[in-house]
Amino acid sequence: MKVHEYQARELLASAGIPVPPARVIESIDDAAGAYKDASRDAGTDLVVVKAQVHAGGRGKAGFVKLVRSASEATDAARFMLSNRMVSVQTGAEGIEVKKLLIAAGVDIAHEYYLAVTTDRATRRNVLIASAEGGVEIEKVAEENPKAIIKTPIHPLMGLQGHQAREVAFKLGMKGKQIGQAVKIMTALAQLYVDKDCTLAEINPLILTPPTADAPDGQLLAIDAKFNFDDNATFRHKDVQAMFDPAEENPGELRAARMGLSYIALDGSIGCLVNGAGLAMATMDIIKHHGGEPANFLDVGGSASEEAVTEAFRIILADGTVKAVLVNIFGGIMRCDIIAQGIINAARNVENTDGSKGFQVPLVVRLEGNKVEAGRELLRAAASDLPTLQAADDLTDAAKKVVGAVG
Ligand code: GDP
Ligand code: MN
Repeated sequence: MKVHEYQARELLASAGIPVPPARVIESIDDAAGAYKDASRDAGTDLVVVKAQVHAGGRGKAGFVKLVRSASEATDAARFMLSNRMVSVQTGAEGIEVKKLLIAAGVDIAHEYYLAVTTDRATRRNVLIASAEGGVEIEKVAEENPKAIIKTPIHPLMGLQGHQAREVAFKLGMKGKQIGQAVKIMTALAQLYVDKDCTLAEINPLILTPPTADAPDGQLLAIDAKFNFDDNATFRHKDVQAMFDPAEENPGELRAARMGLSYIALDGSIGCLVNGAGLAMATMDIIKHHGGEPANFLDVGGSASEEAVTEAFRIILADGTVKAVLVNIFGGIMRCDIIAQGIINAARNVENTDGSKGFQVPLVVRLEGNKVEAGRELLRAAASDLPTLQAADDLTDAAKKVVGAVG
């Protein structure tokens, strides 16, 4: 589960990590007032207007804007709330922006990158840090991996003070910066564990220029991203409360409610499969034969008529689907029962135009217990389901479905 930046900032602040004050608005009319408040907080005229969406790359896409007056803030708000944001992380169609963060602007002497995630290779959580933080971090990781410092975290002892200090030194920090950085790194590592995160990221963590009060400058988190383990959110009411359905794919939301695993992709062949491994194999073979999967839909072990009907509805609601491949292995469930379920579902599913019955090509490959009886039922159903084809095996199924989309 992902959350918005403003929610991530609240989490950081609750863990004692310094974050500039900010507020959220949803309407252009509120921009001027929010600008005045943020500017008062900042003690200068510098304020940042930031689109709140579950995708990064906002700065480069023009959806993080530094403004110096209420009218500039209003212009920035108008632009962001009336244009879809297209960034490297969104896909070409972009995403709608519904909320904006209006934050006190800060002067930046340096931008660092700081994150905690889980490293499968070492089977530990890992602190990732770089002195080359900011909007180019992906490029740094690719072109200059030496600039990324990775520190494994002991599962029982957590991030140790000496480890955090060593990272701060490697980042080139000095004087009071070191103590501040150690506090921030330790708090971030603890937050990661406490909230069952899969990613806790601050980018950038910034250093402000020296002042009389703070001659070594001050470290502040000005952007943050948290991802949470969906299997653990049940034990965090505060995390659950941050869920924003408006940021989710509608098909994925609907599937989750039915206990189906559905992931929308950008091809044209809908896939309905039982079991994640079979789903992977199905997508591989579609690609092998020159097609592109439109989704990954796993109905789980049961493949009941109800689950298949809802799965068909979800797949057909995606206008880009040109054909559907059903690939089901009958283990505990018999193929004849599954076939009857598919046939009933195909007859009864509602199309987006209100009509009933499957209209796009539907290729069904069954295997396992009572498969012959299942195929017989599929063949017999072809009279009132003209787009239905039974496949002999997986290769045959892939060829038929790829052929059907042309
Ligand atoms: P992202 O592009 O989605 O990661 O959005 P960020 O919040 O990280 O902002 C992108 C960039 O905008 C940062 O790396 C900074 O360089 C700049 N930026 C954001 N907030 C401020 C601010 O308060 N002051 C200044 N000077 N720059 C900022
Ligand atoms: Mn950022």
